[in-house]
Amino acid sequence: MNCFRAVTMSAPLLELPASLWASLIEHLRVQGAGVRESGGFLLGRKGDGGRVATRFLPYEQLQADALHNDYVALTAASFATLWDVCRREGVSVVADIHTHRFGAGQSLSDRANPMVAIAGHIAFIAPRYAQGWVRLQNTRMYLYQGNHTWTAFAGDDVARRVRLTVDGDNS
Ligand SMILES: [Zn+2]
Repeated sequence: MNCFRAVTMSAPLLELPASLWASLIEHLRVQGAGVRESGGFLLGRKGDGGRVATRFLPYEQLQADALHNDYVALTAASFATLWDVCRREGVSVVADIHTHRFGAGQSLSDRANPMVAIAGHIAFIAPRYAQGWVRLQNTRMYLYQGNHTWTAFAGDDVARRVRLTVDGDNS
């Protein structure tokens, strides 16, 4: 079955509009103000062909006190709100992203506490509180394997696995 191989090789792990990426990075940058972490969930559709993010749900919209200087924490009640949003809008969590002060490496807590503890979950970390322009290549992407283990991708390996789609309307 050559066609199966061709499809799986070309399919990105995640797709999202370039405009959504730009606006969520802008949100993280402004929200963190260069002094604290910020983050949120990417919501969208999960299918056989991969995941497509359609909107960003910042953590502070789920919980006003979610953001701290050096960590982000959501309560069980915030997760209940999140699942309500997903049910109401017919979407799933397809990834999460948060910022770090310096680099984009996972903290012990990030590693031990996936936001969604399901194998295949994607977590991005953006460096320098997302100050300045953050491209996919500047982030690290972590793919949860279950059992507190992750596969990490950096640089072009992130860009190769995420497709930023551009609105075809050039009129
Ligand atoms: Zn972290």
